[in-house]
Amino acid sequence: MSFYVTTPIYYVNAAPHLGHAYTTIAADVMARHHRQRGEEVFFLTGTDEHGEPVADAAHALGIEPQELADKNAERFKALAPRLDASNDFFIRTTDPEHEAVVQQVLSKVRENGFVYEGTYEGWYCPRCADFKADNEIDEGNRCPIHHVELTREQEDNYFFKLSAFQQRLEDLYAEREDFVAPRTRYNEALSFIRSGLRDVPLSRHKLTWGVKVPWDEQHVFYVWFDALLNYYSALSYAPEPGAPASGATPASAAPGASLTERMWPASYHLIGKDILRFHAVYWPALLMAAGLELPEHVFVHGFLLMDGEKMSKSLGNVLDPFAVIDRYGADALRFYLLRDVPFGQDGSVSTAAFELRYESELANDLGNLASRTIAMVHRYRDGVAAAVTLDGELEGEFGGLAGEVQWLMDRAELTGALELIWQRVRRLNRYVEERAPWRLAKDEASAQQLDVVLSSLVAGIRVVAVLLHPYLPTSTDKLLGALGVEGRSLALARWEATDALGCKLGQLEPLFPKSQ
Ligand SMILES: [Zn+2]
Repeated sequence: MSFYVTTPIYYVNAAPHLGHAYTTIAADVMARHHRQRGEEVFFLTGTDEHGEPVADAAHALGIEPQELADKNAERFKALAPRLDASNDFFIRTTDPEHEAVVQQVLSKVRENGFVYEGTYEGWYCPRCADFKADNEIDEGNRCPIHHVELTREQEDNYFFKLSAFQQRLEDLYAEREDFVAPRTRYNEALSFIRSGLRDVPLSRHKLTWGVKVPWDEQHVFYVWFDALLNYYSALSYAPEPGAPASGATPASAAPGASLTERMWPASYHLIGKDILRFHAVYWPALLMAAGLELPEHVFVHGFLLMDGEKMSKSLGNVLDPFAVIDRYGADALRFYLLRDVPFGQDGSVSTAAFELRYESELANDLGNLASRTIAMVHRYRDGVAAAVTLDGELEGEFGGLAGEVQWLMDRAELTGALELIWQRVRRLNRYVEERAPWRLAKDEASAQQLDVVLSSLVAGIRVVAVLLHPYLPTSTDKLLGALGVEGRSLALARWEATDALGCKLGQLEPLFPKSQ
């Protein structure tokens, strides 16, 4: 098995903000989960560096576009490690290897008869680097996303014959109902297709900042086609991904086969809803035109809202993910974003809601449960949770959990999976209260019962910690380390695994300390 997940490549003209962090975190959770399964995983992120907005911004600063792109790409490159993201590669669309693949694939599209010369005239948003259709222009002739005035543009272009894929795209949507998720986005993309596809510009004539059209060097490829192809081009020159975190041998590592052979097509493209059309319509059509396999899934997440507006730098309502990480750590941000806003929907985020989740769920539900349990094992059993038969009542609730989480993860239901795990975290807290080990410890006749309770708690904590590992990599490493559990494989989330039992537990510092 192989699993290939991507984020969109981020446009270098912006500074990294919470929206970028959100997609990167989600992709990382999926990548880490699939590594736990022992699959061969490739996780890609990167930067989109061509197009008019970058050229304009560079000229305004009196520097070359490449210089600006180099400077800004560094900020996005720095984002991933701060989020604890385990991406296997960081692609830049100015990489010469990427540019060569763009030229090669789009030449193939032309050879296959899907490119022609024509003149395009339309309303253009320089911020989107895109022409707008009549039904997507706001009052006052403005871009609905950027609120800037559109300009009337006319130019000689090469066109991509998108209209030739009308039927094949409708068939694709009929045959693969999980090609785009959630369902609302599937419907949105399908209705756009059904409204009748028109050919789209493939190149820009007036621009120079882009990948040159190899058969006519007066043109550069339209930035969207250049950008989309990153998902494919990266595999042709990225280094081999490192060994999976679980330490297990990847099931599908075919020696000698290239990354492209092993990893293409992509399993999941994670995107924001503002770039749905490019990924759900243009991208599959382009791949069909080139004779390449289509990705398995496009999953569309919603926007994180503050005061009801999409978070973006240009709107000036940025919640700085770096400030949250500095104060509480990356785990807390990762948890909050996937816990508070159902993945796939729009949702509001706020510092008040963040602090509440941190205190009540991370610090109390999980942090206290772990420290109290480990402290009791030390106090009553000299640090060793006995390898006894575990509580049958908990077995029913923990036995199938890993399988259910896997099922949800396969559907990118990251919030649903987290909720399922958290129900068990709460169950363990209730179990402590119900069984009151401190009372059992006072009576020698209850010694056996105390062993069952403490060992069941340790087993339950091991199960949830392994399943939470993709969400909370740093704190679960500390916790599993204190339990003496080696490896992070999903097999350790089975109730009947005996790891952490019969061995001396370590000490645990508070996992989620109160913020100063
Ligand atoms: Zn725009």
